[in-house]
Amino acid sequence: MKRVDLQLPYERGTDPENPARELLTLTGVAWPQKCACCLKEGNVGTHALEHKVEVPGEKEALIRWQVPYCADCREHARNAARLPVPALVFGFVLYVVVGYILFMNDFVQENVAGYGIAFFLLLVVTLVSYGLYRLVRKQVADNKMKETCSHHAWTVTVPRHMLLEGNKIEVMFVFDSDVYGEEFAALNLEEPEEEVEALSASS
Ligand SMILES: [Zn+2]
Ligand SMILES: [Zn+2]
Repeated sequence: MKRVDLQLPYERGTDPENPARELLTLTGVAWPQKCACCLKEGNVGTHALEHKVEVPGEKEALIRWQVPYCADCREHARNAARLPVPALVFGFVLYVVVGYILFMNDFVQENVAGYGIAFFLLLVVTLVSYGLYRLVRKQVADNKMKETCSHHAWTVTVPRHMLLEGNKIEVMFVFDSDVYGEEFAALNLEEPEEEVEALSASS
């Protein structure tokens, strides 16, 4: 994992994909021309990485980057990213069914160890749900990864950001591939750091 923090100027505009929403355009982000997961070189295609930001005026805006991913990696990452929701729903339904059976038959109330058994069953349900999730993920994502792939899901994430004065934003990028992260840092990091020093010296 490689973390890169960038301070970038932004411009506010309308999202062409949804005119009701604002889009922030960040200038000066360069992406290494290779797949961010398997590092396949060239013009491999892209996947849109989207991040929500609250802009002044309490409006929500979107930032959208086109991150290079090859077709194979787009497929396994998309499959992996879709899984958690159905897995959680499945686990929740199992909880409800097991809880219903236990409490409706007065099993828990009438049994000395009732609550202990209920707790144990909930634990089993959790483990079974997680086990099934891992099994399905192996089928639809992990097994489709190449030897050079760095993660089963999307390999570039933006866990947080901070709005700065003067229409600037600091964005934290996290890369599962160290190699890709290093190259991204080399492409984007030289000048902004000097700018930061100049800013703090003048204030
Ligand atoms: Zn790839
Ligand atoms: Zn991959």
